Amino acid sequence: AQTLTEFDTIAAISTPIGEGGISIVRMSGEDAVKIANQVFKGADLTKVPTHTIHYGHIIDPDTNKTIDEAMVTVLRAPKTFTREDIIEINCHGGIVVTNHVLQLLLAHGARMADPGEFTKRAFVNGRIDLTQAESVMDIVRAKTDKARQVAVGQLAGGLMHKIRAMRKEILDTLANVEVNIDYPEYDADQVTAKQMADTSKNVIQKIDRLLKTAQEGTILRNGLATAIVGRPNVGKSSLLNYLTQSDKAIVTDVAGTTRDTLEEYISVNSVPLKLIDTAGIHHTDDKVEKIGVERSQKALKQADLVLLLLDGSQELTDEDKTLLKETENKKRIIILNKMDLGQKLTAKGMHDSTGSEVVSTSILKETNLDELEDLIKKMFFSGITNSNDQIMVTNQRQAGLLAKAKKQLQDVVKAVEDGVPVDIAQIDFNGAWDTLGEITGDSAPDELVNALFSQFCLGK
Ligand code: GDP
Ligand code: ZN
Repeated sequence: AQTLTEFDTIAAISTPIGEGGISIVRMSGEDAVKIANQVFKGADLTKVPTHTIHYGHIIDPDTNKTIDEAMVTVLRAPKTFTREDIIEINCHGGIVVTNHVLQLLLAHGARMADPGEFTKRAFVNGRIDLTQAESVMDIVRAKTDKARQVAVGQLAGGLMHKIRAMRKEILDTLANVEVNIDYPEYDADQVTAKQMADTSKNVIQKIDRLLKTAQEGTILRNGLATAIVGRPNVGKSSLLNYLTQSDKAIVTDVAGTTRDTLEEYISVNSVPLKLIDTAGIHHTDDKVEKIGVERSQKALKQADLVLLLLDGSQELTDEDKTLLKETENKKRIIILNKMDLGQKLTAKGMHDSTGSEVVSTSILKETNLDELEDLIKKMFFSGITNSNDQIMVTNQRQAGLLAKAKKQLQDVVKAVEDGVPVDIAQIDFNGAWDTLGEITGDSAPDELVNALFSQFCLGK
């Protein structure tokens, strides 16, 4: 296992693998400039000023063969992403050439970077905190514009500042506790206990505000797992087609992430829906549509949101009733489709008998589909997501630690109320300080940091 204090020079291809106009090979570390200079014909890179770019050729010094024409950027520490010397080689050839350039750097003293290692160095060298590092990953994986926006905000340090401010509040109070212990002439215990309880209550409020954003933040980051279910012929494929038509910004998962299945994402009012088992819907038209219900049941298990389609122009069938029953404990929207053919089922009647959100549509005529989209957004997003400066908690790690810190602070409040001695109550108070520090990485254990960065893609 790698420790956090290795600082050899690392290299990787930082652009996506594949054909493209240019590819970038990036190197970071003490020897980056020296190594690049050995394989570069053009300016003497060891002499050029920092933050400059140079035209020339990459050559293999052993054979004197030219590998590629290149533009090389020299970025000297400390004003770089990793706070180390960085070299970026813009190659012009395809992937074979780019690989060759990388191999050349490896042959001359660089080591192949681990996934996320550039970002990890930025963290270890104090340039960014863990929430910012996580946001780098989120930007790469963002499914929608909105998700990307939130990630960029986090990269700017918004969440980090909030967490650090809370930690400071706790620390200031702890400092007071020490002072009070030094002045035993007044009732130190009572004064300090009250201070700790007050600060705890204060910080709990701030944590609550952040936790409120966590549900939406997580949806933004991961997408809302959505199942479209209904018996054959009610309009599932039609709805899917409507939702995925080109102006809906279909986004498919980027290759190279850990998942092996291709997932289909659509953005509905900037809510990313991760569609479950769309293959089952796409193909049902070809086959005798028996699989409908059976297949739906599988999709249902994983769903955060169920879009249950019924044919509103007909009475309920047994199959409909089964699906209504099976989805009753899910967050669902019942869609009474085919309203253009007349309405045997009404939205009000269905709402009254199920308690669910119901919308009557004609997917064929594109009637009431905006209403459906608004409903989806309203069910999951309280409006927080619309404001631009909102700092959001976007992942389970952050949310879990916030919840833990909250619990510790609640225990402090309770201990003080119960008259527990200050030094005992203080244990949880200290604990909350540590827990919050884990979010930013100010007090995160090495294994955690390593595990986190290993989820990154190569070259980041
Ligand atoms: P699925 O089997 O649930 O996927 O249903 P499809 O989307 O394949 O639709 C079955 C048939 O119903 C197709 O001929 C559609 O054109 C038609 N259809 C879908 N929505 C509507 C609607 O709102 N009104 C009418 N009249 N027909 C519709
Ligand atoms: Zn169909």
